[in-house]
Amino acid sequence: MKRAITVAKGDGIGPEIMDATLKIILAAGAEIEPEFIDIGEKIYLAGNSAGIEPKSWESLRRTKVFLKAPITTPQGGGFKSLNVTTRKALGLYANVRPCVSYDPFIKNKHPEMDLVIVRENEEDCYAGIEHQQTPEVVQCLKLISRPGCEKIVRYAFEYAVRNKRKKVTCFTKDNIMKMTDGLFHKVFDEIGEEYPSIEKEHWIIDIGMAKMADTPEIFDVIVMPNLYGDIASDVAAQIAGSVGLAGSSNIGEECSMFEAIHGSAPKRAGQNVANPSGLLLGAILMLQHIDQNEVATNVHNAWLKTIEDGVGTYDIKRDGGSVSTSEFADEVIKRLGQKPTKLKAVDYTGAPSQKPMKYQDTGKAIKRELNGADVFICAKIAADDLGKKLESLAGEDLKLSMISNRGAKVYPNGLPETFCTDHWRCRFLVKNGSPAKHSVIRDLLGRIEEADLEWIKLEGLYKFDGERAYSLGQGE
Ligand code: NAD
Repeated sequence: MKRAITVAKGDGIGPEIMDATLKIILAAGAEIEPEFIDIGEKIYLAGNSAGIEPKSWESLRRTKVFLKAPITTPQGGGFKSLNVTTRKALGLYANVRPCVSYDPFIKNKHPEMDLVIVRENEEDCYAGIEHQQTPEVVQCLKLISRPGCEKIVRYAFEYAVRNKRKKVTCFTKDNIMKMTDGLFHKVFDEIGEEYPSIEKEHWIIDIGMAKMADTPEIFDVIVMPNLYGDIASDVAAQIAGSVGLAGSSNIGEECSMFEAIHGSAPKRAGQNVANPSGLLLGAILMLQHIDQNEVATNVHNAWLKTIEDGVGTYDIKRDGGSVSTSEFADEVIKRLGQKPTKLKAVDYTGAPSQKPMKYQDTGKAIKRELNGADVFICAKIAADDLGKKLESLAGEDLKLSMISNRGAKVYPNGLPETFCTDHWRCRFLVKNGSPAKHSVIRDLLGRIEEADLEWIKLEGLYKFDGERAYSLGQGE
């Protein structure tokens, strides 16, 4: 039986590269039944700011597999990124980007490079929770959850096993963000123990990314939080030869989306010149996902042979002799059944099928105790003056432990050199060490307000199972 998939031809060069991609995979015997939906510019300009209609969601939720060509996001006007909307709405938590060198046929400086970036796709700074808190300070909340870490880290290890990869590397910045990135690293270590046959390592993201740009061949699978993954995957695709050659998958517990990583290149639209390779490589990931591994192997090897034979569109044949989009598709089709002889041939047959990975909530009970609060205050004031005022407002149950400004401790015993904004984090802790009641904090806020100070935000300070569950201020 043919597998129903939802297909969007997108905008700009989208329809041309999608037609080429479908022509190739259907010629190779892909057992698919495409359901076409309209997304992108036409829908945005018809007044739907999300760029997708309700009936299209119905198709996506039914087929659960989405092959998507790039779309044009109109500039300004409050249009939402359809990619972000789709990833979040369908819970596509894993963004997988293989970045491979095709040297010497597509020149690059890293002929041995063959790595896969597994990027967390739903949380981190991309939760999009931002606020202006004071006239001088805006904030973006970086949310990292244990379920989010467990899902992506387990996906990375399962991907490594299924694709016969040897090593999984984790990139974080947990020397600075000890709680958020620290959780990601901790979960990596915990889940890694379940995969004894896979080599594991962790790099601090800055030196890790520098190393990846310099010697990418030492990496295999790299897993990381959302923001780092966004940046690292473009760096990796670019140093592999071109962002125009990379495909990616976005995997969820129920649904998945496959695409090229480039955009709709409007200036090249309608000329039959665009390179369909990125979308084709996305479609090959889709064929593996729906267990059509033989077709995936055949198409991928034919594409490698085409590249090896020196056939290419304008973007990779800069010295002339390029073919059109449709001619490139015909050249790949001509080579179906052939394998590359110099580039490494692929073989996905026999790969275990990608069983849907459901997050298992362990439901472990954790004892949580309120230990105090960080009260954020907006004021143009000297640190010592604010400190003295707040000391007098702390009350019987709480003590002012410190004040920091953008994380640096400024009271007590701050340095006059520390630059201060109008955004103060004032830490109150319980005096006797026993858990505080919420009413103690509420009363404190009342006293602060009566003293004509403006509190703008409150963070409870907790102990989880007796352990401090908040970071110390710099210098605290
Ligand atoms: P782009 O990736 O569309 O194009 C950048 C350059 O790369 C272009 O000059 C083009 O000549 C070249 N190029 C890209 N893909 C190519 C291909 N397949 N073959 C040959 N050359 C190719 O980036 P952009 O110009 O910044 O963005 C154009 C539009 O695409 C914007 O509206 C943007 O929002 C959108 N976009 C969509 C997606 C997506 O849908 N996944 C991703 C990125 C950008």
